[in-house]
Amino acid sequence: MKCEILSIGSELTSGQNLDTNSQWLSRRLAEMGIVVGWHTTVADDLEANIEAFRIASRRAGLVLATGGLGPTQDDLTREVLARVAGVELFEDADSLRHIEAMFHRRNRTMPERNRVQALFPKGAEAILNERGTAPGIWMRTGECQIAAMPGVPSEMYGMFESQVRPRLDALGLGGGVLVQRKINTFGLGESAIEERLLDLTKRGHVPEVGITVSDAVVSLRILARAASLADAQAQIAPVERTVRERLGSLVFGVDDEELQGAVAELLASKRQSLATAEGVTAGLVAERLGSVPGISAWFRGGMVAYDNRLKVELLTVPQSLIETHGAVSAEVAEAMAVGCRTRLRVDLAVSTVGVAGPHDLSADCPVGLVYVGLAWSGGATSTRFSWTGSRDEVRRRTAKLALNRVRLHLLSGE
Ligand code: AMP
Ligand code: MG
Repeated sequence: MKCEILSIGSELTSGQNLDTNSQWLSRRLAEMGIVVGWHTTVADDLEANIEAFRIASRRAGLVLATGGLGPTQDDLTREVLARVAGVELFEDADSLRHIEAMFHRRNRTMPERNRVQALFPKGAEAILNERGTAPGIWMRTGECQIAAMPGVPSEMYGMFESQVRPRLDALGLGGGVLVQRKINTFGLGESAIEERLLDLTKRGHVPEVGITVSDAVVSLRILARAASLADAQAQIAPVERTVRERLGSLVFGVDDEELQGAVAELLASKRQSLATAEGVTAGLVAERLGSVPGISAWFRGGMVAYDNRLKVELLTVPQSLIETHGAVSAEVAEAMAVGCRTRLRVDLAVSTVGVAGPHDLSADCPVGLVYVGLAWSGGATSTRFSWTGSRDEVRRRTAKLALNRVRLHLLSGE
């Protein structure tokens, strides 16, 4: 049995609003062990809605719809469900009383138009809405159970938790759990990561292992379906161990953990202070570090040295080095880190230089070319990388590259 989530509204299909209801519902269903096979979004159009519900009720055992239950002309869900089931609409007296009471409580009389919210397809049941006027609709057509809920997220959340979830449990549609574990890596592309894990990512593997990329972070998603949380975790644990063994220091965290969090933990455990000297990232590395609670114990601060004059005056980079190698070079990145470490009197300094674009600096310095420098008590080094992507992407990813360089240094204990 699979569920389809149907989001209704022209504000969604036009791109004006983001469909967050599907995401929220999918997470709740995963917790209940119900598999979601489809997300469909449909405009406020009668024919399109009828077709969407017909298709959904044919292929899914459960359809959860949101939107289209308001009192206005473009709210079509009641009529659509009656058409799909081939039945008439009837007025439900209890629902009408509830709607009138909602208006009464706000010292208003019910506009005649709201009466339509008490209409239901014959055979359907009203779902109480404690937070608004529009009741939901609970009905069966063929082999499919349908729950139509309001589009307003807060009303939908309340209705799902107090009314729909218990009904799904009673039908035995829940049961079991779906548990996800994300393992986050930085430093290799998704295909290179997958090459090391082909036996795990192959179709049909239990638990399911998938790969997703987000802004240069490649994550393995381990998805376990099991009768209990403990069973799901028992499925996940050995797979996670294998992934970690094969990927080693490429792994920096799990679930929501980010690079700066990993850096913060390592700085604390190795008792090392850090400062930044940023060119191309113009403060992004410092900004990310600043997002970690407690980082002030180890992160001392940083400089944004965009202009070459500042590289020389603030960071003591020799003018001759810039003239010989250019500002976007391994030598200058290293010298910035060394200068920053000395001037700011820290254990570790990290630097960035590069070409964010949109234009190449020269034939030798194309858009996306960056260097990250690192200086510590034992020396200095730099890493070269070429990104493809927009100006923002180059800058954001270079900030991650810099954080990762610090992380790897602290891990290696150089
Ligand atoms: P409706 O129930 O169709 O009248 O929707 C009322 C309001 O709820 C809309 O104007 C949207 O702002 C919001 N809404 C509807 N559907 C969604 C959705 N899928 N995700 C997030 N917000 C929504
Ligand atoms: Mg709507």
